[in-house]
Amino acid sequence: MSKPSVAILGLGIMGSGMANRLLSANFPLAVYNRNREKCVPFASAGAFIADSPREAASRSQIILSMVADDVASREIWLGEEGALNGAHAGSLLIESSTLSGEWIQELGTKAAEHGCRFLDAPVTGTKPHAASGELVFLVGGSAEALDAARPVFSVLGRDVVHLGPIGSGALMKLVNNFVCGVQAASFAEALSMIDAGGLDRAKAISILTGGAPGSGIVKRVAERIAGNDYTPNFALRWMAKDLGYAVKEASGEGISLQTAAAALAVFQQAIAEGHGDEDFSAISKSSKRLPHS
Ligand code: NAP
Repeated sequence: MSKPSVAILGLGIMGSGMANRLLSANFPLAVYNRNREKCVPFASAGAFIADSPREAASRSQIILSMVADDVASREIWLGEEGALNGAHAGSLLIESSTLSGEWIQELGTKAAEHGCRFLDAPVTGTKPHAASGELVFLVGGSAEALDAARPVFSVLGRDVVHLGPIGSGALMKLVNNFVCGVQAASFAEALSMIDAGGLDRAKAISILTGGAPGSGIVKRVAERIAGNDYTPNFALRWMAKDLGYAVKEASGEGISLQTAAAALAVFQQAIAEGHGDEDFSAISKSSKRLPHS
C-alpha cells in the first residue's frame, strides 16, 4: 500500500525527530518551520521545504503540528498562510503539541468547518523517544480518524491510547505533565533543604531516588544533576506552560489545582532567574530563598 503524504509543521526538538523518522520510513514528507535554518538538514534528506504551513498542507494528506504553545498553534493552523488555508477537504489534521483544551476545541471546530478530520494527539516521551519512534500518543477524536493516522503513529510511537472525543488527549497530557511538574518542583525544593541543612547531597539524592519518592521524573532530574548537563530535552519554560494550562483547565471545571499552582510559581521563579531555555531539570538550580534570608 502506498504511504500517505505527510506534513510536519514545527521542527523543534520533537518535530525534527518525528520528521527524521518519517523520512527514514520513506514517507513523502513536506516540512515547515518558522526559522528556516532548521529546515536545511531536511532538504538534503529528501523532504520538501515549504515556505508556509499553507504550502506544506496543500501537498499532504496528513498534516501534523508540533509547536510550542497555543499562540504558535493558532499561527500555524489559522494564520493568513496557515495550514487550514492549504488543507484539502478530507485531509487528516493532527495536533501533537501540548495545548489548552479550549484552543483544541476551537481548532477541532475549524477543522470540521473546513471538511477535515481532526485528532488531538499529544505525546509522552521526550527527545530520544521522538528520534527513535518510541513516543506514546494520547489521542482524542473519532476512531475513523485514528485509523487513518495509524500508519504515521506506528512509525513515530510505540503505543497509541484512544482516550475519547476531541480534547481527551489534550486533557490527559495536561494531567500527566502537571503531575510531572509538581514532582520536579518538590524535588528541587527538597534539594534546597538538603543543602541548607548541610546534608551530603549525593547520599540524600540516593535515598530519595532509591526510595518511595524516586519516580521516573525525579530520577531524570537527579541524572541531570549528576551529569551537570541541562541541555534541553524538554525546555523548562514548556513545563511552566503546561502547569499554567493545567491550572486554567481545572479552574474551568471548578477545580483548584493547588499543587500545580505552587509548582508553577517555582518554575516562574526559575524562568525569572534565566533558566527558561534549559532543560526542565534546571529547576534544581533555582534559588528558592525567602526574600532577605
Ligand atoms: P521546541 O524545541 O522549543 O520547538 C518549538 C517549535 O515551535 C519550533 O519549531 C518553533 O519554531 C515553533 N514555534 C514557536 N512559536 C511559534 C510561532 N509563534 N509560530 C510558529 N512556530 C512557532 O519545543 P519541543 O520540545 O519540540 O516541543 C514542542 C511541543 O511538544 C510543545 O508543545 C511541548 O510542550 C510538547 N512536548 C515536548 C516534549 C519534549 O520532551 N521536548 C515532550 C512532549 C511534548 P522556531 O524554530 O522558529 O522557533
